[in-house]
Order: sequence, then structure tokens, then C-alpha cells
Amino acid sequence: MEQSIAWNNAVSQFNKAAKILKLNESVIELLTQPKRIIHVSIPIKMDDKSLKTFQGFRVQFNDMRGPTKGGIRYHHEVDMEEVKALAFLMTWKNTIVDIPFGGAKGGIICNPKELSEAELERLSRGYIQAMYQFIGPEKDIPAPDVYTTPQIMAWMMDEYHKFQGHNVFGMITGKPIELGGSKGRDIATALGGTFVLEEALQKMKLQKPTIAIQGFGNAGRTAAKLLSDKGYKIVAVSDSHGGVYNEKGLDLKALMSHKDKTGSVKDFKDAKNISNEKLLEIECDVLIPAALGNQIRKDNAQKIKAKIILELANGPVTSEARELLFKKGIMSIPDILANAGGVTVSYFEWVQNNTGDSWTHEEVYARLKDKMVEAFDSVYEVYEEENIDMGLAAQILAIKRMVRVMELRGIYKK
Ligand code: GLU
Repeated sequence: MEQSIAWNNAVSQFNKAAKILKLNESVIELLTQPKRIIHVSIPIKMDDKSLKTFQGFRVQFNDMRGPTKGGIRYHHEVDMEEVKALAFLMTWKNTIVDIPFGGAKGGIICNPKELSEAELERLSRGYIQAMYQFIGPEKDIPAPDVYTTPQIMAWMMDEYHKFQGHNVFGMITGKPIELGGSKGRDIATALGGTFVLEEALQKMKLQKPTIAIQGFGNAGRTAAKLLSDKGYKIVAVSDSHGGVYNEKGLDLKALMSHKDKTGSVKDFKDAKNISNEKLLEIECDVLIPAALGNQIRKDNAQKIKAKIILELANGPVTSEARELLFKKGIMSIPDILANAGGVTVSYFEWVQNNTGDSWTHEEVYARLKDKMVEAFDSVYEVYEEENIDMGLAAQILAIKRMVRVMELRGIYKK
């Protein structure tokens, strides 16, 4: 159910932009069809010697701007429709930050929390055995996404090695640093988000904002830490069990050790427990949905009190909600801009792998900041010119860039 929501939402944002651009029907058709869909069965011997067959997907949506690129998601509810929607979003995300990649996404239907480490390794290797012909540094470059880690990327790279007979570091990103990973990749999504947020705070003339964050996984937790280190006041955070709120600000360090000890942010001292839903509606200046998709919709957009929303998750705000929020004077910074820091440092990793170079943390952060600020400014320009929400502005900019490439390639002539 949710999966087709993801696809419908992504396409509805695209269609709104296509309408404003008066995009030719045949161009719309090409840009909304994936180039290649791969569906594989992965047989795995489980620890108890039983045999289990898992379903894996890879959607290579569009490679007109370069090899396709995007993460692999391990989730019990993932399916082809969702992977397709996420691959479509990757196409635009990579275009917005202007890195030479097309868009892709992968997934395996599984519950990683129920698998042993050895089973997880066999499954990850099985995915590469089934997919290796279709991926590679010049074809399609996977990376981490929900519940996939640097260790999983290392196993996948090692498996690919077996088929090629030599190391191919640039075939996957988000690897451990000891094995060709880039410095800064671990915090890149959140860090990129903070760069974009600071640009937005300046434009909105908001000083000393209070911040609420939904989600305490890689993106949410790192964003909370980075922002709190910079001196911002975090008033609420949540994880899948629920959230906590203190209008005077949360002690992040103590909260992180509470989460590590108890498995949840809930029941933290000096804070009120709140639900994930309520967190979205609390009094704050900046709201960061960093967990799941489809959180802010037509039905709850009116209740949002924040002035800026930073969409750190993929697809947390629907295109209808973005428009409603815009009319209320709230700026929702779309996912394809807000969370593009992850894939941007993946691109840096790929460049380092292909050249044999190794950049310092400072170099990576400085280059990431340049990329994110440039992307924000380009989207903001369209937003001001057209007087439309930032989601629509980002989509318009991305389509324009894509159509230009189609013209240069000779695929399409106006
Ligand atoms: N999975 C991340 C995303 O949704 C990163 C993709 C990548 O690094 O290729 O943007």
C-alpha cells in the first residue's frame, strides 16, 4: 500500500513540474519509465541448515547523465514499486547536486534484525552473485540505504572481486575507510542537511531556532549530534518506539547514552514522552523528518508549526503537503536536496577510488559544503522566480538539466 503511495507521490511532484514546463508528452513518457528493472531470487542456506529464498531488486531508472547510482535497502516491507520510486528520486537528487550519475535503487525483502551476521553476509554476497553483470563503476554503483552498512558494502565488494578477478573499489560506495571508503561518508547525509539548513535559516532570517527531529537512525541521530555541537537547541527527538520533548532543550549526550542503554529515546529524564505523530506538530522552528516516508501529508500539514522542514528521510513530505505548507509560509526543503549529502560524498568516494587518491576530512567537508550550497542556491533561485514551493522548484530545475542533456545526446529536439 505505502509503496504505491511512494511512487504516486514522486510522479505527482514530477507531473506538476512537467505541466509548468509544458514538457512534451514523449519526454514525460521517457522520464517516468525505468530503463531497467532486475528482479532476482537469492537462495540462502540458513544457520539451521534450512533453505530460504529471498527476493532482491535493482531498478536502474535513468542513465542519461552517467552511470546509475543509489543505495540498497534491506527491509521486510520493501517491494519493486518502492524501489522504483526511490530510483526515480535518485535520478533527480543526483541531478540537483550536479554529480555525473543517473539514478538507481536496490532492495532485498528481509528483516535484517532477524538474521545472524553469517546469514546477512551470505545474503549480501548472494545479491552480488545475482546482480554482478549489471553493476560496476561505469554501469551502476550501489551504496548503503535503510539497514545496510559499510560492512555489507565490504562483503559485496569482496564478492564482486571474485567475478572480476581483481579489486574494483569503485563498484560500490559507503565502504569502510580501510577498504576504499571515503572519510566523512558516515556523516555525509546529515552534514549535507545542516549545510542546506543553515542557508535556509539565513534566507528566512531565523536566529537561534529550536529543532525537532523525527528518527534516530544514521541520519537523524547524526543530525541531532552535529546541530547540538554547533549550539542549536534540540527540543524533541524520536525513534520507532516514540519520542521525547523538552521545550528548554534536550541534553543530547545524555540522551544518546540513554538510547544506547535502553534501546530507545523514550522515558528520558527531564523530558516528556510524546508520540511520533505529535512530534511533527510541536512548537518549534525547524522540523527534521529523518525516518520514514509519507509522514507529512494533506491531512496533517495544517497542524505543522515549524517554519522550516528539512526532509532528511526519502519522501517524508508529499507533494500536496509541500504546496499547502508553502501557502502557510513554511519552507519544506525537499529530500532530493536536503539529503543529497550522502550520495555526494559517495561520488567523492568513487572519484577517489578511480584516481587512487585519498582526501582528508577537511577536503571532503569543504567540497560537500560547496556542492550543497550551490544546489540550494540554484533551487532557491527557481523558488523565488516562480513563486512556488521548494519541492516543485527542485523538480523543475532537475528536469531542465535533464532535458538539456537529452538534447545534447540527440535523444530529443525541441
Ligand atoms: N541511500 C542514499 C540515498 O538515498 C545514498 C545513495 C548513494 O550514496 O549512492 O541518497
